[in-house]
Amino acid sequence: MDRKTRLDTFPGIGPARARALKKLGLETVGDLLSYYPRAYEDRTKMYAISNAPADLPVCVSAMVAEVPSVSRIRKGLNVTKCRVVDHTGSAQVTFFNQDYVRHALQPGESYIFYGKLEVVGHRRQFTNPVFEQEDRTRFTGRIMPVYPLTAGVSNNLLAGLALPGVEACAALVPEELPDCVRLSHGLCTAEYACQNVHFPADTEALAIAKRRLVFEELFFLSCGMSFLRRRRTGVEGRRFPPRESREFLALLPFAPTGAQRRAMEEISADLSSGRPMNRLVQGDVGSGKTAVAAWAAFLAHAAGTQSAMMAPTEILARQHFETLTKLLAPARIVVGLLTGSMKASEKKSVRTALAKGDIHLVVGTHALLSEGVEYADLGLVITDEQHRFGVGQRSALSSKARTAPHVLVMSATPIPRTLALLIYGDLDVTVIDELPPGRTPVETYLVGEDKRQRMYNFVRKNVAQGHQVYVICPAVEEGEGSDLKAVTAYAKELSEQVFPDLRVGLVHGKLKSGDKEAVMTAFAGGGLDVLVATTVVEVGVDVPNASLMVIENAERFGLSQLHQLRGRVGRGQWQSYCVLVTGSRSQETLERLRYFTKTTDGFKIAEKDLELRGPGDFFGQRQHGLPTLQAADLAGDTRVLKEAQEAAEELLGADPDLSAPEHRSVMAKVKRLFAEDGDIFN
Ligand code: ADP
Ligand code: MG
Repeated sequence: MDRKTRLDTFPGIGPARARALKKLGLETVGDLLSYYPRAYEDRTKMYAISNAPADLPVCVSAMVAEVPSVSRIRKGLNVTKCRVVDHTGSAQVTFFNQDYVRHALQPGESYIFYGKLEVVGHRRQFTNPVFEQEDRTRFTGRIMPVYPLTAGVSNNLLAGLALPGVEACAALVPEELPDCVRLSHGLCTAEYACQNVHFPADTEALAIAKRRLVFEELFFLSCGMSFLRRRRTGVEGRRFPPRESREFLALLPFAPTGAQRRAMEEISADLSSGRPMNRLVQGDVGSGKTAVAAWAAFLAHAAGTQSAMMAPTEILARQHFETLTKLLAPARIVVGLLTGSMKASEKKSVRTALAKGDIHLVVGTHALLSEGVEYADLGLVITDEQHRFGVGQRSALSSKARTAPHVLVMSATPIPRTLALLIYGDLDVTVIDELPPGRTPVETYLVGEDKRQRMYNFVRKNVAQGHQVYVICPAVEEGEGSDLKAVTAYAKELSEQVFPDLRVGLVHGKLKSGDKEAVMTAFAGGGLDVLVATTVVEVGVDVPNASLMVIENAERFGLSQLHQLRGRVGRGQWQSYCVLVTGSRSQETLERLRYFTKTTDGFKIAEKDLELRGPGDFFGQRQHGLPTLQAADLAGDTRVLKEAQEAAEELLGADPDLSAPEHRSVMAKVKRLFAEDGDIFN
């Protein structure tokens, strides 16, 4: 067996299971080795029935004392029960909807049961434990990996494949970290890491393995980003002549804030520097990034070149188009719109105007990247809400210019400094840390299930005052079946039972993009009172009339994501509200949510989030446009991130092209890591 060995050559893996495994990206032993557990179960300690601690997962060895009985409680709910005994006492074992257990558990045989032992009065009971026959245990006595699963793939199946896979192949995992880096940072070998991340010898070994894997991944990523940044400094850019801002300021219907002015100055300096600008403007929602982008487009036009602005959704592109047309038309700057849903003839005329230079600033979606879009002279590329676009897409748009264009990236996602370096490592960063005057902060409340009725009344009150309401439900990985069903059912309940007299709409990530746009447009136009939505609404749609956001199961969101969501309200002159609903009783969770109700500063919230949950959470959201990361999800500690960054800087400082023979493997690895993003290293 080696890392290329296909999983469907293992006993028990037929075509159906192979297909299910493929859904998880698992086709070979090598895939499995880099498929990391999301948690672990400690099955090393054995207890007797009568002295096992209650309500904690434990291993108990016991004999099945009777033939298991199956009874049907109602349609879709079967219960299998039996009694088990050891030398200290007996316990009831109950399984829900696992009819096979009746045949799997033989009376008179002994098994190791692993699960929580509940104590009810004098009775002890296990519910849905996992079990292995005592004389054939594979996982008892180990720290057992718990893998992310999908339908048709059980944890026992994956662990059962991983066990021989790790045994045979851990030693074959290539050591990709240069020895100098590995040794000076006290990291274990690739082999040790592979063994212990799957089947840790003990918790200490697990920590050592995780540290290595996380370090490794963040190190290569940091190398890639530093490499891009360093390479850029050698490139020629077009020099736009500096210009007074007076004429532009006269176009604005407001006086810019100090932070906006600073951003404008930095952009002017970049554009006239003779090197291509690569700047990220980070500012909380509503901080006024559009005006800053308009200034950049104004300068590009003054220098006789065109600008393109890319937004992640049609509706956002249209909003920008309208705002910018109003703002820039008096300066005789022609603004165009190009989106995928436009008629072919409309698209064609926009394309022609762009190629002739008749449009000075074009706003659009991914359509801007498509073949056949040509520019007379593209001098500036602006992307909005960049975390939805990959590094590669950014450079794809740039490649439509004859010489390296200036690039301006705008993001409303506050990201702590350490992470910003990684995610936007190839960009210079400006932070707009000031909101325009006169904003009323969103009032935020945390309520339990007992206040649900009052919350519904509050929804009604807001609608009665002529406002609109968002109701957000979690669907963590969009499209996870059960979440999606729950959201759909909840929307139905709201529209049919709770608010039969209100206009309730539903939008989620699995709708066709046309349907999605239609619902959003209806809500934006006031055609809906209540919009039930998953996090698809997170990205900058502007519905100033929305005055209330209710967030269900708030405990399932990270703080930064809650902040992003809350930014959808509080965009009008009136007082707006955000209500977090949770059934959680965990003190930790409640504290986290309470912190959120008291803070409106996005950067503080992001720092707190990073502190509480580690970088894994940020990477988990997969919205950063970075290559897919595996190990960083394991990271619970930002120290490793800093260390990996420093190591990358050090290595590139010593060998900027990574051309030394002992560093070639680093370059190769970096290229592979960014492979999804196209050929950005050439
Ligand atoms: P962002 O894109 O950063 O979320 P926008 O650029 O959409 O924010 O601005 C939000 C709102 O604030 C817009 O209605 C805009 O006209 C207004 N605005 C922006 N800057 C100022 C300012 N300096 N003073 C008053 N209002 C402003
Ligand atoms: Mg915006």
